[in-house]
Amino acid sequence: MKIPVSEPLLDGNEREYVLDALDTNWISSVGKYITGFEDTFAAYCGVKYGVACSNGTTALHLALAAKDIGYGDEVIIPDFTLIASANMVIITGAKPVLVDVDPQTMCIDVNLIEEKITERTKAIMPVHMYGHPADMDAIMALAEKYNLYVCEDGAEAHGTEYKGRKVGSLAHSAAFSFYGNKTLTTGEGGMVTTDDKELADKMKMLRNQAFEHPRFVHHHVGFNYRLTNLQAAIGLAQSEKAQAKADRRREIAAMYTSLLKDVPGITVPYEAEWAKSTFWMYGVLIDQAQFGRSKQEVVEELTKAGVDTRDFFYPMHKQPVFQNGNDPRYPDTNGAYPVSSYLYDNGFYLPSGLGLTSSDIEIVVEELLKLRR
Ligand SMILES: *Cc1c(COP(=O)(O)O)cnc(C)c1O
Repeated sequence: MKIPVSEPLLDGNEREYVLDALDTNWISSVGKYITGFEDTFAAYCGVKYGVACSNGTTALHLALAAKDIGYGDEVIIPDFTLIASANMVIITGAKPVLVDVDPQTMCIDVNLIEEKITERTKAIMPVHMYGHPADMDAIMALAEKYNLYVCEDGAEAHGTEYKGRKVGSLAHSAAFSFYGNKTLTTGEGGMVTTDDKELADKMKMLRNQAFEHPRFVHHHVGFNYRLTNLQAAIGLAQSEKAQAKADRRREIAAMYTSLLKDVPGITVPYEAEWAKSTFWMYGVLIDQAQFGRSKQEVVEELTKAGVDTRDFFYPMHKQPVFQNGNDPRYPDTNGAYPVSSYLYDNGFYLPSGLGLTSSDIEIVVEELLKLRR
């Protein structure tokens, strides 16, 4: 691909910190970079505690397991998300309950949540989709009313702001991913942020085989979800430049938007007046009637031209793995989810990585506009 969809940008102290970890022989899951990464990223989010772990998926699991969510419980998630949202609910033994999303923010539609709450509902896991925050005040008001736990999925939204506050500080906890294509990366990595000390301590215990005192006497089912000091060395360096990376993603989005906003048949990403999106991925919707091509054709042609893109997420209610399953934990896939279906049918994202230059963006737009009929 001439222009990749997203590549890591290692332009800070990554190399120095990794070499220091190597030179001092601290390469496993204990070391100063773990705590340095946790403290620095948590402070960036505006909370007291960060619990680093092996990836964003295990971060979601830790955040649920630490609240004893399990068999018989229900957890509300958006229908439009990465399947990790549903899978990590299922792994606990609980059942994901799907809610359609808002057509503009692409985040969980807060007007459709209450009708899905039952006496089994224990938690809501909103996803800040493609860097745009979910409407958290409405979600936290429901959580208060029904006594529910809320874990933000901030995997795509490092540095995103909601009414002036950063994602990661808006609920009881928040899970982040530091995978290679995320705004901040450790190669593979995750973290849960929270202001709740008891919750943070429990997650630290669970991520480490639920070791307590005495060490080999266990009171909980734990996991090995530890991050290494080597990965955390990269994470600390990345966190030191978190705001610059969030700002750069906004600049890239602004460039795309200025070139695409008036093109008939293309809908550019939305930003609510209460939001400061970080546009993790610059997603567009293609109106086939106006643009003269389907999304699928556009994606194929761009690929041929060396422009790497990705489809929008495939809705959870359509996932083959969840159809006609007799597993009681699988989500109910009946019912209508018109918005997430529409987004999948018409949406994809353009290259959005931090390494993009303005000339890359111009090339992408030129290749895209060539396809209009
Ligand atoms: C990337 C991502 C995850 C999973 O993170 P990994 O580090 O890849 O395990 C979870 N949720 C969302 C919304 C994501 O985009």
